[in-house]
Amino acid sequence: MKVRAPSAGSRYFEVRALIHGQGLHTICEEAHCPNIAECWGRGTATFQILGDTCTRACRYCFVHSGRPEHPPDPLEPLRLAQTAAQMGLRHVVVTSVDRDDLPDSGAGHYAATIRALKAKLPEVSVEVLTPDFLGCEEEALRIVLAERPEVFNHNIETVRRLHRSMRGAKASYEKALWLLGRAKEIARYPVLTKSGIIAGLGERNEEVVATLRDLRAAGVDVVTIGQYLQPSPKHAPIDRWVHPDEFRWFREQGEALGFGSVFSGPLVRSSYRADEQRHAAETGRGAVAY
Ligand code: SF4
Repeated sequence: MKVRAPSAGSRYFEVRALIHGQGLHTICEEAHCPNIAECWGRGTATFQILGDTCTRACRYCFVHSGRPEHPPDPLEPLRLAQTAAQMGLRHVVVTSVDRDDLPDSGAGHYAATIRALKAKLPEVSVEVLTPDFLGCEEEALRIVLAERPEVFNHNIETVRRLHRSMRGAKASYEKALWLLGRAKEIARYPVLTKSGIIAGLGERNEEVVATLRDLRAAGVDVVTIGQYLQPSPKHAPIDRWVHPDEFRWFREQGEALGFGSVFSGPLVRSSYRADEQRHAAETGRGAVAY
């Protein structure tokens, strides 16, 4: 696998200056995403709200885990919207750390962020990649979807057999499916739902297809599948390198199941070319492998 280094001719340094200048976090940096030079070079990024400390500790994730020291920053939504405007984004992806310490698990802050974006950029489409809102799932979905994000994303991450061992006792495969299905039911507009799978954590190919089937049964429109990269020796080891032919096969299986868009490839991440994923699903252009 080869990735580009940041180059002087791209927008990488401009994007970094804008994001750092506003004191914002991105999952691109927090998770050490391998695509950062490409995505930031294209002028895109994925914002991470609600701070930099996650109350979970998934075994594959590099985001710092612990007890957050601060409540949500009430001005973060405005700074984020201002930055998105300066970047000239037309599709804004917003994710967050898990905040099990908050009574609404951060749903209100998601809502405030969507509101700020739509007020500042009326033409923008917003994609939220949310946590599971443990303990207040139904209410949190209502709060977030009342602001009409165009895409509701919740990553299932791995197959049923590995879910608990990779994500911990608080997370649940069934709840992830429920959240995605319920989002479609609650939304009073045609929201696109989306989810992602990490390959290389110990799953078998047929288990990936079983998860695709489960996601499709939950009404999910857009799916991403990418290769796991071990972020540090303390994290789960890489079980296997999935061959590009296998990623192509996943894509074909997803196509056959009827997803609007399947992005499947070693470097695909949930937010990788998210604008193109949405466009593919909405125009029926279909599946893509990278
Ligand atoms: S794939 Fe997503 S997380 Fe990675 S750099 Fe691109 S926008 Fe950021």
